[in-house]
Amino acid sequence: MIRFDRVLKKFGDNVVLHDLSFDVKPGEFVTLIGPSGSGKTTILRLLMTLERVNGGTIQVGDEYLTHVERGGRLVPADEKHLRLIRRRIGMVFQQFNLFPNMKVLQNVTEAPTRVLGLSRDEAETKARSWLEMVGLSDKVDAHPSQLSGGQQQRVAIARALAMEPDVLLLDEVTSALDPELIAGVLAVLREIARTTDITFLCVTHEMQFARDVSDRVMMFDQGQVIEDAPPGVLFTEPTHARTREFLHAVL
Ligand code: ADP
Repeated sequence: MIRFDRVLKKFGDNVVLHDLSFDVKPGEFVTLIGPSGSGKTTILRLLMTLERVNGGTIQVGDEYLTHVERGGRLVPADEKHLRLIRRRIGMVFQQFNLFPNMKVLQNVTEAPTRVLGLSRDEAETKARSWLEMVGLSDKVDAHPSQLSGGQQQRVAIARALAMEPDVLLLDEVTSALDPELIAGVLAVLREIARTTDITFLCVTHEMQFARDVSDRVMMFDQGQVIEDAPPGVLFTEPTHARTREFLHAVL
């Protein structure tokens, strides 16, 4: 579902991702861990096309994010192609970024009506079922400011799901939450991962969550994957000294 092939990403002279290759299979839940500054967020931003690679290729499904096939040749991707790819990818951020002037229901129906062209009725029916899935059926008419951080984050998750993405990117989704609200958000994500065939790429510091929910965990250091293993292996018998040090510091 996702393929990075020898990706190079630089900011000025700072090489952030160096010759990075990895695959994520359809329906897999893959978590990226590693020290701050190791390039995890940059990977999500590349997938969201908020950044461009300096070398190598990225594929989402059978499309290149970097190139498009025209007349049997690969040419650099244009905006129209990027828009189509972006539509397949949802993202939930640390900051929920809900529309403050819209009710919860409208927050979830806005993109499906505007971008996917769903009728208002159809979008509302679907939005209600996504809001039920995240445990907020009783909040459809509330405004974001009337909700806790955990509830707002669950609206943001429902809003991402409403676009029916193939891939959902999660960037430190619990970092801005009070500790007592974190478990509810993680439980919702765990349930979505279990009951849908969405492919997840997740950056988190919640090691227990990563351990529970991931099919694979990739440990990053200085823009490279230094260890890639199922959580049962990576968390209990890491082979790399750097992974052991990192886990020792955060667990
Ligand atoms: P992580 O998510 O693992 O903390 P990031 O992907 O955010 O790491 O950052 C990796 C490196 O890229 C860091 O050295 C950071 O300073 C640099 N970086 C990220 N975004 C930018 C940017 N927009 N401009 C310049 N440098 C950046």
